Amino acid sequence: MSDLDLKPRILTGLPTGNKGRPRADMRPELIDAFLDSKGYLVWWSRAAVCPCRQNDQTEQPKLTCPLCKGSGWHFYLPEVGLQNCAEDADGNPIEINAAGDAVLISAVMTQATQDPQVYERFGGFIFGTFRATVHSRNRLGYRDRLVMSESLMMFGQLLQADGSARISVKTAAAGQKALWYPVVSVNLLRSESRVYAEGSDWQLDLADGSIKWSITPPAAGTILTCNYEIHPVYRVMDHVHAVRDTNVAKKAKTKQEQHRMLPVNAMVKLDFLLGGGGE
Ligand SMILES: [Zn+2]
Repeated sequence: MSDLDLKPRILTGLPTGNKGRPRADMRPELIDAFLDSKGYLVWWSRAAVCPCRQNDQTEQPKLTCPLCKGSGWHFYLPEVGLQNCAEDADGNPIEINAAGDAVLISAVMTQATQDPQVYERFGGFIFGTFRATVHSRNRLGYRDRLVMSESLMMFGQLLQADGSARISVKTAAAGQKALWYPVVSVNLLRSESRVYAEGSDWQLDLADGSIKWSITPPAAGTILTCNYEIHPVYRVMDHVHAVRDTNVAKKAKTKQEQHRMLPVNAMVKLDFLLGGGGE
């Protein structure tokens, strides 16, 4: 038996005499610049599991919960006190949405799903995922929400009229009684027997993206189909590259000095595939 047999086989540093291995440093500031020039503007909210899920068996959210409005997820600003800041650390203006729960950041969306599955779910359509890459300082978390502020996509759903003067945007797990997302424009709103026309029958309330009846609303229980444009809403599903930091070379005396955070890359999925904020 030699001395070597008594030593652990693991390696905690470079082997003796091997100081010249290839390096794969990235320069985070170059990637950040790329994000600014090629990225989309998205509204980013953090997601927290709502305390109302702490019940005996099912972990189902309370439909009447004032915090999550029955969705089971509470969305809030990614950093404490952000609403009081006018600028970020680099002097860029900070923009916060009207609801006060999201901040505007840049994200590059890549790798749309290679094998789209398309099928229907209560009148909606189902397809894939993207990878979102964001600045190194924007550490995305599980189930965080990203809303594309400029892009538009079609969304279709069934609505069950409840006789009220307005079709509201979902504020609770309202099933078929409410719009899942704020409406940007409507392509079709009809029942089995009647097409409802914009202007004469209803108007879009752009303040909150709801639909306001100008006629006597359809009788409670009437099923409507609505095709409308929305700003796509994504949710963070995993974190393949959330911990994606690097050690930079040169002249740093300690490991801590070498450490740099890299841009975050996470898989995101359309929110309505998750039941519209309910998962
Ligand atoms: Zn709740």
